[in-house]
Amino acid sequence: MAATVQDLTRWVQLFGEAVAQHQGELTDLDRAIGDADHGSNLARGMQAVLAKLAETPPATVAELGKSVGMTLVGTVGGASGPLYGTFFLRFGTGAGAVDALEPAGLADALGAGVDGVIQRGKAEPADKTMVDALAPAVQELAAAVAAGTALPQALQAAASAAEAGRDATEALVARKGRASYLGERSAGHIDPGAASSALLIRALATALAD
Ligand code: ADP
Ligand code: MG
Repeated sequence: MAATVQDLTRWVQLFGEAVAQHQGELTDLDRAIGDADHGSNLARGMQAVLAKLAETPPATVAELGKSVGMTLVGTVGGASGPLYGTFFLRFGTGAGAVDALEPAGLADALGAGVDGVIQRGKAEPADKTMVDALAPAVQELAAAVAAGTALPQALQAAASAAEAGRDATEALVARKGRASYLGERSAGHIDPGAASSALLIRALATALAD
């Protein structure tokens, strides 16, 4: 089973809907260890993304990544805008001008997106950031695909890995971003970016569920 550009556009739409639905929760997480704007930042950006996709449906995965990434960079303030923007831009260039991705190609393109986030934000594993949800998810996906797991099940496993990574940020002390200013006091709260990233991977699993 391949993931078509329509499936992947649906992914982005589902992510936008999930962000709108969980906006208050994401902002509450950011209120505890940041500046209470993660939900509103991302909801504003994703609203602009959904409008753009409706106006100009992308014909290739490269176009999808570019459209989503540029819109997020242009509309989301704060640290997460450039990071999510980079994720989608690199996802698109990793995928290329194709109208569908085989499972291994999808895993590679998502891996390129996460590598972009890491290069841009310089976060390491366990720094209590979105990387703690994204990196285990792409590792799980790549491993499951390599083992011959069908894409829907591989994506369910990836989404569960992202959620486990999100939950594991609760105990961590932040070493990157605004939450790091709190030092030890950042422990005991889930990282807001890890929470939104878990929604991102869950939306992908939902878009490609069989
Ligand atoms: P800001 O912190 O500027 O208010 P947001 O509230 O929108 O931006 O996003 C905060 C989230 O961004 C954090 O929860 C964290 O997951 C993520 N983040 C911040 N800095 C980094 C970084 N250097 N690398 C990866 N993710 C980061
Ligand atoms: Mg914030």
